[in-house]
Parts: sequence; structure tokens; C-alpha cells
Amino acid sequence: MRSHYCGELSAALVDRVVTLCGWAHRRRDHGGVIFIDLRDREGLAQAVFNPERVEAFAIAERVRNEFVLKVTGKVRRRPQGTVNPDLPSGEVEVMVQEVEILNPSLTPPFQLDEENLSETVRLENRVLDLRREPMQKNLRMRHRAAMAARRFLDEHGFIDIETPVLYKSTPEGAREFLVPSRLHDGHFYALPQSPQLFKQMLMIAGFDRYYQIVKCFRDEDLRADRQPEFTQIDVETSFLAEEDIRALMERLARHMFREAVGVELPDPFPVMRYDEAMRDYGVDKPDLRVTLKLTELTEVMKDVDFKVFSGPANAPGGRVVGLRVPGGGSLTRGEIDAYAEYLKTLGSRGLAWIKVNERAKGAQGLQSPIVKNLHAKALTEVLERTGAGDGDIIFFAADKADSANAHMGALRQKIGHERGFAEKAWRPLWVVDFPMFEYDEDAKEWKARHHPFTSPKDGHEAYIESAPEKAYAKAYDMVLNGWEIAGGSVRIHREEIQQKVFNALKISKEEQRAKFGFLLDALQYGAPPHGGIAFGFDRMVTLMAGADAIRDVIAFPKTQRGQDLLTGAPTPVTEKQLRELHIRLRNLPQP
Ligand code: ASP
Repeated sequence: MRSHYCGELSAALVDRVVTLCGWAHRRRDHGGVIFIDLRDREGLAQAVFNPERVEAFAIAERVRNEFVLKVTGKVRRRPQGTVNPDLPSGEVEVMVQEVEILNPSLTPPFQLDEENLSETVRLENRVLDLRREPMQKNLRMRHRAAMAARRFLDEHGFIDIETPVLYKSTPEGAREFLVPSRLHDGHFYALPQSPQLFKQMLMIAGFDRYYQIVKCFRDEDLRADRQPEFTQIDVETSFLAEEDIRALMERLARHMFREAVGVELPDPFPVMRYDEAMRDYGVDKPDLRVTLKLTELTEVMKDVDFKVFSGPANAPGGRVVGLRVPGGGSLTRGEIDAYAEYLKTLGSRGLAWIKVNERAKGAQGLQSPIVKNLHAKALTEVLERTGAGDGDIIFFAADKADSANAHMGALRQKIGHERGFAEKAWRPLWVVDFPMFEYDEDAKEWKARHHPFTSPKDGHEAYIESAPEKAYAKAYDMVLNGWEIAGGSVRIHREEIQQKVFNALKISKEEQRAKFGFLLDALQYGAPPHGGIAFGFDRMVTLMAGADAIRDVIAFPKTQRGQDLLTGAPTPVTEKQLRELHIRLRNLPQP
């Protein structure tokens, strides 16, 4: 139908007759002449309707926003003074000879270029929302990133192999979505949390290098960076050591950023051990743009009178940690209280601090509600270790290590970005050497930190059953600006080690057979050493696009409550459908 895209018009086409198709973005009636900005996916073009063209002019008078038009006319330079330097096609316009309304439109519920639309309105009207320029840009960036990944992986010998979506319920970590089976009364499929075991079996099957851009499903409470269904770039290789896998995947990430957004990520990515990350940043995905670091103070606080510090300092698994903020002495009481309030929302009980007015004066030069409870030696140590000088403030957390880390890590992040301690940069890194297990206080049992198929570090096999807290894994996360964008590991390729891990996780022999028999069997037929990674593709594109939430880079996302406001999913179903699935509901769904 068209000869050119609207956004393609330029001075090179002057005097050519073109035919454009698109949507009436805006119509302006300038007393006698009508201008319509015609929009398609490549951009805008200005169509000019003169009253001399009686027929076309009469049609243009009826056009409203979002009508679909086809216009034919001659391209000419815009008259002097009317050039629009903000538009690629802003030097020219089309003098319309003919126009056809291909389809009218109802008045849209919002102006397409309106900013600050509520997300509910946007998601309810997703089709119109997707017409907006930022969404068009985001989804095309997503496409470029996906294509860059496919090209890189193809060039490096990775084969795209599809894996099932109707899978089996297995205890792998997250809560699963279940699909009732019609043919098997009382039986269910589960939607895969990831194709983890399929990709491992493809390695055992000899494909050597696999990838897939694939939907994964987890029925978890949602946050800004989570969706119940999300996309991974899922990768697995055989016969590569951990360092080689990381080196290759780092190149993939660099390639994607270069191709999709023209960003050159640093080469190589720094590598940080998990323990270091927790010690210095309090989180396992440190935002290295923020230059502040935490200070270890547990030893220092063991013998102070202040029980709030000495208690956790002496408790097993306790930690006292400080955060020095240069120049933070100027924070007002109100500002400090606001930080304390913020930490309360994360479960903290209070925020202790010391302002350094004049370091040379010792305790006299310090200002703080807690100074009198700390002896001189402890105060000197605090100043030395944090390196605090005049005009600084030091914040403290004392708690179980997990909580102290979480609170100070969050404070570091918040203050860092609010008070000018964050660089404007891309700061990727690898976090490696994760503990294999973590203790679930509520369930009183050990859980796999990554997933139960992750290999222990060499020499750590013996700890798996006897001292799980000491077992570290060949697991690695790729982190970018505080977001975990990929996670992976070298896998267990020996059946006896896999069984040890299941034992440590208290998965009984029967359950091992019932749930993972297929894996344990496959492992016994010459499984090669293998490992891999999965990129959180939505998160990656969100970072590339500078968007706030992954919903902005997904065409049809769900809300925080797992609803699709466009189609209305999830919905009740008919009694007949339930009957076929052998299901009777406990509660009748609310309308
Ligand atoms: N399957 C893992 C995940 O989804 C990633 C991996 O280990 O490759 O987190």
C-alpha cells in the first residue's frame, strides 16, 4: 500500500510523489490549511491539505486522532521558518493529492503523547499504550538485543533447542504454576521455573552447546523486577570450566549492549567473591556505581557496654557494621530520622550514628547519642577503620549478619544515589563462590542457594552432608548496576554427588526417584562435565532502555497482582471445563 514509511521522509525525496500509511497523530486546522501529522512505526510525517484539493480537504476535515489513513502526495521542503529540527522528517512535508480513510477510530481514552499516565490506564489500554513512542522504542530495542544474542550464540556454535512448557512438578525452589490434566484424573503438569534439567539432559545427549530464549514461570509475589512469566536467555555448554563459561558469557553481554544500545561495557568484568560482596556491600548484587563501602566492626564492639552492639557482636552469626558517609555531618536530625524510618520498613529496629565534628579532639569531637556507651578504644578503632574525618557521619547496624547486611546494604544504596556518591556509568561485575546452601529459619532446613544441581567447589564435596554451611559452589551471578542480570553454575555431573546434595536437602530416596529419577538415570550414562547460565532478558532490556520496571519492556505484562488488565486473565471458567479436568472448587470465585 505504501511507498515509504512516514519516518523515512527526508530532503532526499523532495519532488517525489509518495504514498504513506499510518495513524493521524494530530490534526491542526490553520484557517484554510489542514495539517495532519501522520505516524507509523518509523516516526512522523507532516501531511498538508489545501482547500484547492476539494475532495482530499473534505476528508481531512473529518479526520480525528488515531484514524488510519493512506495519503499520496508530493514531497516538498517546508517553507522557511517552519522546519522542525526535532523530527527526522522535519525539513519536508507532503502536499496531499489523495487521501483515503482506511479506518476511523473512537476517541482514544488518552492523548498518546501524554506523560504521567497511570499504569492501570496504560495496561487496560495496552494496545494504544504500545503505540506510544517510548514503548515502540523499548520493544524494538528488545528485538535488537534478542537478535544480537542469537547471532552471537549462533556464531559460537550454540544450537537453539525448544523444551517443553508442560512439565512435571519438581521441588526446585520457587512455587510452580500447575496445569490440570484432562486425560489423567488428579494429575497435573507444572510450568517450568526454567528449562534447567532439560538443558542438562541435552548436554548428556551430546549437543555440547544449547541456547533458548525462553519463557519461565514462577508463582511468586511480584516486585518491580519480577513477572510470573518472564524471559530468559538460557545457555548450557559441555566441557568448559567455570572461568571459560564466564568469559564467553561476558562477551555475549558486551555484544548485546553494543549492538542494542551502542554501550561498551568494561572489559573484563571485575570478579568478586560472595563473601567479599557481603562484607563490603551487604548484598550479593552490589551496585558498584555507588562508591561507599561498609566497614566491619564486629570485633571492635565485643566488649563495649552498649548492649545493642555487644549483643550481636558476641552472638554466633551476629554482625556489627558501619557505613561512613563523607560530608554526612551536615545531615539534619529530620534527614537521619527519615533514613531510620526507611530502614524500619525493611525490618530494622533503629539506626545508630556518630557525627565526627573534630576528629583531633577524640570523644569530645564526636556528636552522637551513643558515644557515652562506647569506650575510647572502640571509638578510635571506629574512626580508623572507617577512615572518617571531620564533617563525616558513620551509621551502624548490629544484628544477625543477614539483617545487618540487608539494612546497611540498602542504606548504602539509598544514600549513595541521593547524596551524590553514585557514578553515572555501567558497572558490571561477577559475583562468584556462593555458598551451596542457605538455612531457612522458618522451615528449619537447608535450601539450595542456586538450585540443587549446582556443583560444589573442588574439595567441598565432603562438606555437603556433614557441614553444609561450609560448602561453596561453582556458582556465579552477573550483576550490572545493582541488578542481577544472569545467574548460573557448573553442574553436578556425577550421580553420587547429586544424591549427596539431595540428602543434604532432606529429599528422601523415594522422592529423589519420584521427582528426579530421570536425571539420576541420565547422569549414569556418561554425563559430560557441563555448566551454563541464564540471563534475565527482561531485566537486561530494562537496564538498556533506562526504564523503571520490567513491565515497560514487555508487550503484554501482568500487574503486581498477576493480572492481565487487557484480557482480564485470570478469569473463572465454566463448570463444564472444570468437570472435564476432574476439579471441584473449594470456594466459588468472587465475581
Ligand atoms: N536455571 C537457572 C535459573 O533459572 C539458571 C542456570 O543455572 O543456568 O536461575
